[in-house]
Amino acid sequence: MILDGKLVRDKLLDGYKEKIRNKNLAIKLAIILVGDNEASKIYIRNKEKACDYVGIVVEKYLLGADTSEVELMSLIEKLNNDVSVTGIILQSPVPSHIDFDKCSGLISSKKDVDGFTKENIYNLYLGHDTILPCTVKGIIRLLEYYNVPISGANVVIVGRGNIVGHPLSLALLNMDATVTVAHSKTKDLANLTKNADILVSATGYPHLIKKDMVKNRAVVIDVGVSRVDGDIVGDVDFDNVKDVAYAITPNPGGVGPMTVAMIIDNLLMMKESENNG
Ligand code: NAP
Repeated sequence: MILDGKLVRDKLLDGYKEKIRNKNLAIKLAIILVGDNEASKIYIRNKEKACDYVGIVVEKYLLGADTSEVELMSLIEKLNNDVSVTGIILQSPVPSHIDFDKCSGLISSKKDVDGFTKENIYNLYLGHDTILPCTVKGIIRLLEYYNVPISGANVVIVGRGNIVGHPLSLALLNMDATVTVAHSKTKDLANLTKNADILVSATGYPHLIKKDMVKNRAVVIDVGVSRVDGDIVGDVDFDNVKDVAYAITPNPGGVGPMTVAMIIDNLLMMKESENNG
């Protein structure tokens, strides 16, 4: 079975659009980009497209690569205090003279669309309701949409990055999965991955996951994005792994579209909690 992120995204976006229209919600997303990263521009375009579709206003702040950390921090403060702004995204990566963690950590936890602030991560650590990082939430929603059981599942996550692997391990643990996290220093990776009911790869290492590393009828989620000879390539050798997997995400077309949908999901959550209190 193909876990079709585009199909699920489109259904979700239709639902969000209706909700925003019916409840007459005024939602604004501020996106900050520092510098000229081409991939970031594509990601931002995808976010804008989805926001446009559902009726969310996007305000872009395209700052020069020579913008100082102080200037960026004062923009974030301004947006934190602007009541018309529902959520803020600081697009990663930023130029090397800027500390991304420090600056994204300044975003108000109530406007933290990406779920990266200390308060939101701490809530995740404690197992409390929180704003989940969009890719993490997107993976969970995709599994839920296709009725893949998470509670009790043996999950192996390859990659311990702060954006995907690490927070996903906490979120799935909170959902009663048994989680193993592997990384570049892991010995005998295949020995671990072969035990996974759900195998998630989030490394950016092209075609790391081969057919002989996957248990028969496992669910395989490919998060990684890398470019090989101009083509986008995932972490999973899809053409061969699909023959043993019960379900698998295409890449592109799996986790990426779900990540974009979860930006809207998080914005709606924020707007509703703003309206409730
Ligand atoms: P990251 O912070 O660079 O983390 C990558 C992780 O992969 C690290 O833990 C690293 O191990 C591990 N790793 C690298 N090569 C490995 C190998 N050969 N074997 C085992 N582990 C290996 O990256 P990230 O921000 O978490 O993102 C991960 C990937 O997901 C990237 O390709 C990114 O582009 C993609 N991504 C996709 C979406 C989407 O929506 N589709 C969203 C976010 C990210 P060490 O810790 O030991 O170095």
